[in-house]
Amino acid sequence: MNHSGRNDFLDTPVEYLKGVGPMRAELLKNELQIYTFEDLLYHFPFRYIDRSVWHKIQDLDGNQPYIQIKGILGKIEQTGKDKGKRLTALFKDESGYCDLVWFQGQKWVKENLKAGKEYIVFGKPNLFKNQISFVHPEMETTDQEKKHQGFQPVYNVTERLKTKNITSRTIHQFISSLINHPNFEVPEILPKSLLDAHKLIGRKAAFTNIHIPKDNQSRISAENRIKFEELFLLQMRIVRIKNRNKRTLKGIRFAVVGEYFNKYYKDVLSFELTDAQKKVIKEIRQDTQTGRQMNRLLQGDVGSGKSVVALLNMLIAADNGTQSSLMAPTEILASQHFNNMHTEMEKVGLQCALLTGSTKSAERKRIHEGLENGTIQILIGTHALIEDKVKMKRQGLVIIDEQHRFGVAQRARMWDKSEEVPHILVMTATPIPRTLAMTFYGDLDVSVIDEMPLGRVPIITAHRNEARRMEVFQFIQTEIDKGRQVYVVFPLIEDSEKLEYKNLNDGFELLSNFFKRPKYQVEIIHGRMKAHEKEMIMTRFKKGEIHILVSTTVIEVGINVPNATVMLIENAESFGLSQLHQLRGRVGRGGDQSYCILMSGQKLSYNGRERIKAMLSTNDGFKLAELDLKLRGPGDIEGTKQSGIADLKIASIVDDEEMLKVARFQAEQILSEDPLLQHASNQPLVNYLNQKSPGKDWSRIS
Ligand code: ADP
Ligand code: MG
Repeated sequence: MNHSGRNDFLDTPVEYLKGVGPMRAELLKNELQIYTFEDLLYHFPFRYIDRSVWHKIQDLDGNQPYIQIKGILGKIEQTGKDKGKRLTALFKDESGYCDLVWFQGQKWVKENLKAGKEYIVFGKPNLFKNQISFVHPEMETTDQEKKHQGFQPVYNVTERLKTKNITSRTIHQFISSLINHPNFEVPEILPKSLLDAHKLIGRKAAFTNIHIPKDNQSRISAENRIKFEELFLLQMRIVRIKNRNKRTLKGIRFAVVGEYFNKYYKDVLSFELTDAQKKVIKEIRQDTQTGRQMNRLLQGDVGSGKSVVALLNMLIAADNGTQSSLMAPTEILASQHFNNMHTEMEKVGLQCALLTGSTKSAERKRIHEGLENGTIQILIGTHALIEDKVKMKRQGLVIIDEQHRFGVAQRARMWDKSEEVPHILVMTATPIPRTLAMTFYGDLDVSVIDEMPLGRVPIITAHRNEARRMEVFQFIQTEIDKGRQVYVVFPLIEDSEKLEYKNLNDGFELLSNFFKRPKYQVEIIHGRMKAHEKEMIMTRFKKGEIHILVSTTVIEVGINVPNATVMLIENAESFGLSQLHQLRGRVGRGGDQSYCILMSGQKLSYNGRERIKAMLSTNDGFKLAELDLKLRGPGDIEGTKQSGIADLKIASIVDDEEMLKVARFQAEQILSEDPLLQHASNQPLVNYLNQKSPGKDWSRIS
């Protein structure tokens, strides 16, 4: 064992394990990414068979999980041709018979299995044409039976491994011989106090019992310990980044709230802030007036009024002699912010500038100069441009709107540029469940606007199919005749840009035929159009000159046109839940009753139906986000790769929510008591963290 709390033995290449050798090692590497003893140890079973339970063939109906049966193997026969070529055999117990089928590894089957002999068959029974079958079952002779009592683990193996005769049970043999090796040791890394507080078993026992459980209870304690360790290590890494930023980064101290803010608050602001907005502004103030650099996430459902919070903080930045920038993900959103803000800012004497890809070079030059000499105080633009080479006299605050594309690691790199760093406020309208936020935004402090401005009328959501299209169109017509405007959105079809535009164009034509010019103005907007064309259409829509705006998801985030009251979503089943919610949030922004109509085909997938049901059941973005996480799993959620969530081997941020919260709490606790992890009791932990950094992004920043 070395000083790092690790064990050199576990770094041994897997080929040196008894029974493995170079050829099988190569397979384990290529198929399962198992390089070392440690990797093998981390190849956890994905389920267990209870070897004390025997099933009878006549009781099988295809709904059982992975099980065992005992019986006599019949004659093995070759059937099918070419790719369908397979071996089949009848298998019989006292209650009935079933089929065994092998597509691959046929040579091995023929050479090793004997008709008429008694076997134990393991596998998942399938029901096909009224007959139970097992495809690629694992087989064991009954004289081996005594060796495998209790709980038998089942491991993932690939088809290729099976054809090379490396089965779940081969993996189990490898792991058993690793665990029984005289040098086998798994040094403890968690502080004893933590083990005691949560009644966790030791590390070596956990890694032993997860692979070779004595009974169900020992399996559960092993699993608990390893899950906790995994979540705790992830949170330790995140909280360390967060604390390190707090320790080392200096923000500019916003000592005062001055003229700009007060004048705006008194003379310009046309509504009363909600309590939630006030609370969040206070939280931000608490950060920025200390001189510590702020890294804060502002979460708020669509329409909850994040922009004004941003604006008020930019005023405070100006009151303290600094400049601010506001980054939006698209040019449309950047110009929307600019249009909403610049006249209001001018009223209190501040200059704004808009910088995007379509800014002409003369204008660009003027802006660069103004930022450098301080005559422009507020810069609004798209990410790319602002991150680039814009120089400012003194930048105090950066606000990133609608950003959910960076993980912890990327952010760490972005912030980490100089010692005096601007305060950073990330605003997201995509509500995220708490557990996901803890991990994905775990390095940030979080503020939540959990209240809508007064006077909002809840949006009515309905589900319609093609048969009722005319009815839907007529409804839209009455809304337009009342003076309202309508969005019609088509989905992005993956990998098929052509089809997407065909859909969009067909839809546009259908609508144009029903809603005829000159009485009705129907226009189209999509990602392929030039920025200034999009801009022009959006301006006309905002002015009310366009009645129906047909689009792809370019309007998904942030667009604010209070007079629009209908959101018609075509092929609604093909959108993700949070996307549907975002789209719905484009209406209901004025005082009028608004509607969201979800169009779909008759036949819906399970998930598609669940998403639509969820949309009909609630307008609450946080509830929908929880549901979305359950339906899709965290793997599908954008950016999870960079967050470390993707590296979880056994824990799940969905199923182990409570444990994740405890892990986070404990990580914070340990780091607040021992910020640099210098106590003797934390040495194995810190050594482990410093050495083992999953993924490249992590290693570069820790
Ligand atoms: P989002 O949080 O989705 O970015 P916005 O900041 O665009 O929401 O705000 C949506 C609308 O609500 C805007 O028209 C804004 O002026 C208005 N608004 C914001 N806060 C309030 C408030 N406290 N009372 C009334 N209207 C508000
Ligand atoms: Mg917004």
